[in-house]
Amino acid sequence: MAFDDVVGQKRVKEILSASLRKDRISHAYLFTGPEGTGMDAMALALGRGLLCSEKKEGGCRACQNCRRFDELEHPAVKMVLPVPAKPKGMKEEKYQEILLDRRQQWMTNLYQKVQFTPELSGSPVIGIDQIRALKKEVILKLASESYRILLISDADRMTAAASNSLLKLLEEPPEGTVLFLTTTNTGKLLPTLISRCQVIRLSPLAEIEIEEALVNRWDIHAVKARPYAKMAAGSMQRALSFDDDEFEKNREAALHFLEQTLLPDELIRLNASSQILRLKDKTVIVNIFKLIHSLLRDWMMIQMQSGERAIHQDVIDRIQTLHDHYPRFETQDALGHVARAIDFIDKNVYLDLVVLNLSQELQQCLD
Ligand SMILES: [Zn+2]
Repeated sequence: MAFDDVVGQKRVKEILSASLRKDRISHAYLFTGPEGTGMDAMALALGRGLLCSEKKEGGCRACQNCRRFDELEHPAVKMVLPVPAKPKGMKEEKYQEILLDRRQQWMTNLYQKVQFTPELSGSPVIGIDQIRALKKEVILKLASESYRILLISDADRMTAAASNSLLKLLEEPPEGTVLFLTTTNTGKLLPTLISRCQVIRLSPLAEIEIEEALVNRWDIHAVKARPYAKMAAGSMQRALSFDDDEFEKNREAALHFLEQTLLPDELIRLNASSQILRLKDKTVIVNIFKLIHSLLRDWMMIQMQSGERAIHQDVIDRIQTLHDHYPRFETQDALGHVARAIDFIDKNVYLDLVVLNLSQELQQCLD
């Protein structure tokens, strides 16, 4: 299968394969889609394949061209990523070192979001200097290469000056140059820029595609891969972000809250709420609430005698215990309460109020 290091996206691969067979290469592509669906991976695979000595779609990963491509050392390839500004007092050499490190990280896993913290904390942008550097490359002649590949990742992060500068390049595309732009948000790009590109839309990934990729490519145990895939909402990036201690910790907090908040002892219940509130971080609390939501869905599956369809199989015993204790629990209502609590947090309702209120509402689902 061509483009096999890109997860899913069968339809897009077919379209690209067909245009490669007909030798119809655009001079500019814009890959867009929801976060974590593989825009960079798809763009890079197409670019690598164009340079591959074996002419394999997506690249053979073994010829010299492919290897240099993957090592970020191919002279005909230039990639631009948004970067935070250099902090005052940091040596240029150190700054470049950090950027190179992140670029290599990005290249080894195009589905993971590049984090510049803790060394660089500013918001990443693509400045005019980066586009100017690209344009300088384009002028250079490349005798032996049939294509020059330019990639601008997260193109919506370009400053206005950078966008205008890039537009000039697109107005007179140099011979043999193929430009790839990727973005989750075409609304932030100049319409004139979009109109000069062939736009390729990626779709959210299917759960099964994510699950298989987690197991086969990232070596994640099947018991974990399933909940990650289910909760990823079609995003490989999101699914991978669960693969750390944080997920386990948050899920434990979610289970604990659920177990304690249903007990008759008011003191234990209050304590369960205050444990959540002590976390303070809104994002963490929302994540825990989302986990409570998905645990409640599993509970509902058990009620429907479809426990095998539950997501959290590795903790299914604990959900089963809850069910045995409270066989008449109104899971449907509880799901509604949790969803509303998440909504309240998003709307900045006072956290203490939201958590205590949810605790009370869940109690009421018992009768
Ligand atoms: Zn190759």
